[in-house]
Amino acid sequence: MKNKYFKLNKDYILVTGEKNKSLIYDLKNGNMIELEKEWTDILIQLENGSKIEDVKSINKYDVIEKIKNEKMGEFYDNFIYEKKTRKGMILPLEGMQKLPPIIHKCYIQIPTSCSLNCKFCFLLKSYPCLVCAKNSNVNSIDLKVYKTFLNNLLNLNVHNIIFYGGNVLSYTNIENLLKICLNSKKRPEIWFLLHWRHIRNNKMLEKEIYKKTNFYVTFSANDVFNINNGKNFSLFIETLDYMKKYIKHFELTFVQDTKEISEFKIKSMLDFIINTYKTKIYISELLDENNKSFTNHSFMRVSPEIFWNNYYYHPCLNGTITLNAEGKILPCPSMENEIIGDVAENKNALKEVFLDNKIDKYWKLNLGKIEQCKECIYRFGCFECRAIEVKISQELNGKSLCKRGD
Ligand code: SF4
Ligand code: SF4
Ligand code: SF4
Repeated sequence: MKNKYFKLNKDYILVTGEKNKSLIYDLKNGNMIELEKEWTDILIQLENGSKIEDVKSINKYDVIEKIKNEKMGEFYDNFIYEKKTRKGMILPLEGMQKLPPIIHKCYIQIPTSCSLNCKFCFLLKSYPCLVCAKNSNVNSIDLKVYKTFLNNLLNLNVHNIIFYGGNVLSYTNIENLLKICLNSKKRPEIWFLLHWRHIRNNKMLEKEIYKKTNFYVTFSANDVFNINNGKNFSLFIETLDYMKKYIKHFELTFVQDTKEISEFKIKSMLDFIINTYKTKIYISELLDENNKSFTNHSFMRVSPEIFWNNYYYHPCLNGTITLNAEGKILPCPSMENEIIGDVAENKNALKEVFLDNKIDKYWKLNLGKIEQCKECIYRFGCFECRAIEVKISQELNGKSLCKRGD
């Protein structure tokens, strides 16, 4: 008999969760399609290999027809197992990293402070790793230790190096470090993370060496969009024009530090900046008792790479590592208490982080290992900041800033 079985095509992955919820991950178009209970029941039976005639539901033929019309599923005469889509071999089958591992982002903290006094500097906020922050400068490592670390790092497979701290350009040795990175055959992208006021009137950017660098630039609503400081907006725009002229690329982090400016005004100003400079703007919201709407997750377009990355690994921590100004190796710049190595004491610390699998605890912390997320149907398309959850819960796998999994 023909058409005995029906199942989803290999680009469509059914994920079931608690309360009979389910979601189809459409790896072809990047969508996540949430299903009602009845559809879930029918699809689970079909995906598990039940014959269509045995599926218990009066609406099974309607559901099958709709899925077939969307070209998401197909009839079969025999039940065959087919592997779901994976893109190339970016991940070995068992999801393990090969050595040397791919380091997507290595943050390096520079021992520089800052003379500005932004109120949000030490507050909890989203995207903390994309907002500049002062540091104490106590016990900071010297140039020799930075150089050894950089040379070891550049022997690995590093894609982006991000110098962060207060006013990083004020560090006297910054160009020494920059030259090591730019002379490397690995050609990683180099980023500086700092506040727009550190760039304004800074003639350093006109030097040849900065032409190959990228900047993450912090600005805030109260500073730049406040009508009482009208001229700040034009100074900020002048600074963006200046950067555009001299450096390779910049992206912006907007800190939403006031409720006094209307959402409409903020949106139109941000749209203006995005359209004028063709750049990305990350929105960093402050987490305080006045902000009840703060959520620490966003949904991604689920390409095969993202789905399988999130299947095995943490959506953000995977591929991230940090050296702080005291020489401590951390999984990310905002997890100050999770120390996995110390280059001030051991010049092989970076190598050992990988050889001894110390980083796996963080990189492999997929959301299936977080109690509140493990049954959530969105967990393979969800981006969350682990550092902020750790700061609130004091636990590596704590979660309190999402209500969806309840
Ligand atoms: S400019 Fe950056 S580092 Fe300086 S006080 Fe403001 S947030 Fe902190
Ligand atoms: S419960 Fe977890 S996986 Fe689900 S949406 Fe919230 S943060 Fe994301
Ligand atoms: S967990 Fe990710 S988003 Fe959060 S601070 Fe660390 S690197 Fe940044």
